[in-house]
Amino acid sequence: MVSKCVNPECDNTLHYLRDGKIFSLIVKKTLHHFWLCEECRHAYVVKVDDRGQVELVPLAEGAAIAQSGYFLNRRRMDKSLV
Ligand SMILES: [Zn+2]
Repeated sequence: MVSKCVNPECDNTLHYLRDGKIFSLIVKKTLHHFWLCEECRHAYVVKVDDRGQVELVPLAEGAAIAQSGYFLNRRRMDKSLV
């Protein structure tokens, strides 16, 4: 059960499902649920990279990925920001 914000730098805990946002993602062929608290959900989205690793993506990048219709891995996104 999800109990803490998936952002490792955040200590907020889940009390009510109406707070924040739940992400249901398939990681290595298994469905997992991740929660971003109300504060973090305005800054990040949760993604799974092509190696099956869960990562936080800044919301602006996540929106760009969703609109582009294809997936960029974390390394490529970091290069594009340099
Ligand atoms: Zn948080």
